[in-house]
Amino acid sequence: RNDRESQMIVTSFAQKYFTSQLWDSNEGRIAALGYFRERGLRDDMVRKFELGYCPAGNDNFTQEALKAGYEMKFLEKTGLTIKREDWIRDRFSGRVMFPIHGVSGRVIAFGGRTLSQDKKIAKYLNSPESDIYHKSRVLYGIYQAKRSIIQNDKSYLVEGYTDVIAMHQSGIENVVASSGTSLTTDQIRLIRRFTNNITIIYDGDQAGIKASLRGIDLVLEEGVNVKVLPLPEGEDPDSFSRSMSSSELQQYITENETDFIKFKTQLLLEGTENDPITRARLTTDIVRSVSVIPDGIVRAEYLKECSRLMNVREEVLYEELRKLKRKRD
Ligand code: ATP
Ligand code: MN
Ligand code: MN
Ligand code: MN
Repeated sequence: RNDRESQMIVTSFAQKYFTSQLWDSNEGRIAALGYFRERGLRDDMVRKFELGYCPAGNDNFTQEALKAGYEMKFLEKTGLTIKREDWIRDRFSGRVMFPIHGVSGRVIAFGGRTLSQDKKIAKYLNSPESDIYHKSRVLYGIYQAKRSIIQNDKSYLVEGYTDVIAMHQSGIENVVASSGTSLTTDQIRLIRRFTNNITIIYDGDQAGIKASLRGIDLVLEEGVNVKVLPLPEGEDPDSFSRSMSSSELQQYITENETDFIKFKTQLLLEGTENDPITRARLTTDIVRSVSVIPDGIVRAEYLKECSRLMNVREEVLYEELRKLKRKRD
């Protein structure tokens, strides 16, 4: 057996251990299962995503693993155990566990959420990079989503673990999260294996809006079509989908999904009195996004829309596009 395989095997053991702690131990049922239920997560979703619980205390998990014959070397390499000269402890002690599956369904890493309200404690902890886990190449939920992504020829992209699961609970299964990293080119290419259409649904806060704008250009550069679904201020897909029925959510999506040009337009013209300088800046900004699209025909379609929305002649936009190109070369 090679190193990678050994790391996979100990990670799979950890997932089973965390899951059995959640369902079968008193501590797990009360602290963790109780927590999920309080958040409105149904048991069938907890099972589907193989959620779990790492017991509180120093090294309960590590001792179990050693007893079962797993080597410390691999516990360390996967980051499940933290070992120093004079102490060892479980990385995820006292956290609810979200296993991260690779495309083929094997568990390769974990996200762990604290149950504590204390702001000084990191809300989420992730497994460190290892031979089996490269966080910039992985999307949370891809294994559970891929069939639905193909069927719908489209993928939703959200920020967090609970957003993915809440949307499944509302009947929307073609959804993945970049979870804890800002979106990468490799993650977009992973989605592109299954579809050419992405809709970004990030949190309705400043950080979410900023990340959407960055995401748009990154997705466009990979030749993938991008839309955005803005959420009301203060909501994320998890809180939002739980505040309504599945059909209401579906209706909200249908009515509010916007292509990236309209999204930018709404965002920038919101609150300004539509003055010429702002409009000019916005037009340049949109053309800059269009300029990263590899396909010329798609570029032309978007410039047509920009022309219509901003009431600027197409020739002017093409001139701007050429200027940007020249600057880049
Ligand atoms: P919850 O609803 O459980 O409070 P969330 O998913 O809404 O959490 P956000 O603060 O919106 O949490 O963050 C989105 C995602 O970013 C999380 O799901 C997690 O993957 C990641 N994340 C958040 N906080 C941290 C952190 N302190 N360290 C690492 N990753 C984090
Ligand atoms: Mn957020
Ligand atoms: Mn959130
Ligand atoms: Mn949330």
